[in-house]
Amino acid sequence: MDKIIRCITSDGAVMASAIDSTDIVYKASVIHKTSPVASAALGRLLSAASIMGAMLKQDNASMNLRISGDGELGALVAVSDSFGNVKGYVENPSCTTTRYENGKLNVAQAIGNGILSVQRNYFGSEPYNGQVKLVSGEIAEDITNYFAASEQIPTVCALGVLIDKESAQVLLSGGLLIQLLPGADDSTIDKIEENISKLDSVTTMLAKGMTVLDICKLALDGFEVEVLDEFEVKYACGCSREKIASIIKSMPKKEILDMANNEHKAQAHCRFCNKEYVFPEEELIKFAFKK
Ligand SMILES: [Zn+2]
Repeated sequence: MDKIIRCITSDGAVMASAIDSTDIVYKASVIHKTSPVASAALGRLLSAASIMGAMLKQDNASMNLRISGDGELGALVAVSDSFGNVKGYVENPSCTTTRYENGKLNVAQAIGNGILSVQRNYFGSEPYNGQVKLVSGEIAEDITNYFAASEQIPTVCALGVLIDKESAQVLLSGGLLIQLLPGADDSTIDKIEENISKLDSVTTMLAKGMTVLDICKLALDGFEVEVLDEFEVKYACGCSREKIASIIKSMPKKEILDMANNEHKAQAHCRFCNKEYVFPEEELIKFAFKK
């Protein structure tokens, strides 16, 4: 089971959040039949959305991250609830996989140039929207840049997805986000920078058997660390036959009957979990008359 943790230094100067998103990203890769580069890109965005979702200060809020690039991958979407449970999709899951000379997946090329959009939805109020141009297309740096440019929060973000070269299967996935809070002094900044320079990649740390708490403690080495919260997270799509049915029922009676007469069924496809919902003619006629 995947886990997310949020920690803070006891002087309140630095926040660190880490996720082991291995199961989430594996599930996403199975649902969407993603190529290695698509698994890596979607996996990184899902990890970031989960971390940022868990930072929302309201139980029924949600975090939407969207990358709109001009590369072969097309758009990428990840949505998290305020407990870090996520779902997502990529427009072109079978995108061609290319690698850098060192063998690492070239996510930036697959994404291309474009925009990262961040939307926070709070129950009962207007959504908060932020947008930045992509600075790298490798996602972690784009998240870092988003926080610096759009929210003026000095942030370090690391995201990683390890994929087996032979089988193309997702082996490990994780993320780490460190933020300096108001009141962080120069010595704190220096110490955090020193810690980060010594850190292995997130997937290397997970491969070593480190827990999300171990990862945060290492990132905040030299500080007293308090755990704010820790919970299990999963890939979760909230769609259901009942929800789709209620959308159809809310349509004007004439439109439902037209659909029944002309198409003899209504069909809906969920982009997040790939489920297909079919409502036959008889059911549509019932929906039209029994609201
Ligand atoms: Zn669904």
